[in-house]
Amino acid sequence: MKDFTLQRYELYLRVLKGKFKGSVPFRELLGRGLPSRFCAIRHDVDRRTYRALDMARVEHKLGLVASYYFRVPYTFDVEVIRAIEGLGHEVGYHYENLSETDGDVYKALVDFAEKLEQLRRVATITTCCMHGRPLKPYDNRDLWRDPVRHNLLTERFGMLGELYLDIDYTDIAYITDTGRNWTSGRANRRDHVSSSVPASFGSSEELLAYFENKPHPRLVFQVHPERWTDSRVGHAAQWALDTATNMAKQGVNLLRR
Ligand SMILES: [Zn+2]
Repeated sequence: MKDFTLQRYELYLRVLKGKFKGSVPFRELLGRGLPSRFCAIRHDVDRRTYRALDMARVEHKLGLVASYYFRVPYTFDVEVIRAIEGLGHEVGYHYENLSETDGDVYKALVDFAEKLEQLRRVATITTCCMHGRPLKPYDNRDLWRDPVRHNLLTERFGMLGELYLDIDYTDIAYITDTGRNWTSGRANRRDHVSSSVPASFGSSEELLAYFENKPHPRLVFQVHPERWTDSRVGHAAQWALDTATNMAKQGVNLLRR
């Protein structure tokens, strides 16, 4: 079975469901101690919102909940957001305000406030995670690194937290499809966390075997819905796009070394 198809995704989920008995949204992980055992599914909706909805339906069918992070305005698709929340999933804000304002912190905070407000007219938003724009020099998380500004996130904006900054990943297996592979890291300029749990797999078979055997008791499965489709034409087109993007990112990495 080919990887990055919904069929394959469903298979991963069935195995994970058997091991973890279910999944938790991120709003249940932030602002409190982490449970000793959990599986959390995170989706950054970077483009192609309709694929996120397809994925949300697969999860719903299996009785699982996931957290979907939307960009404003790039993937602010009211119908899809409502439908996904309607299936019982969490909706969050995939923010990129420093990239948008070329690093101007004040303008970025205003931009964050406005876009969060826009999303909240459609869904309940209590968590956020940054979008990494590979070709821009800003790390959007820097918006909250200063403790005073981080307070704004919780006190003023009423958020439970930011997924990269407010979760300690040391003892979490962080499994991500960034780079269209499971080798966590190679093409990832920003999407990596500091974990002491190895979570790198040479193939989809290896990943499935890991889920089937002894997955780490705390697990985050980070999957980009745009990449997953059962359509053969869509699959080939996405493969080409991911390959080109990886090459571009590796180019940027080389330049920055
Ligand atoms: Zn993103």
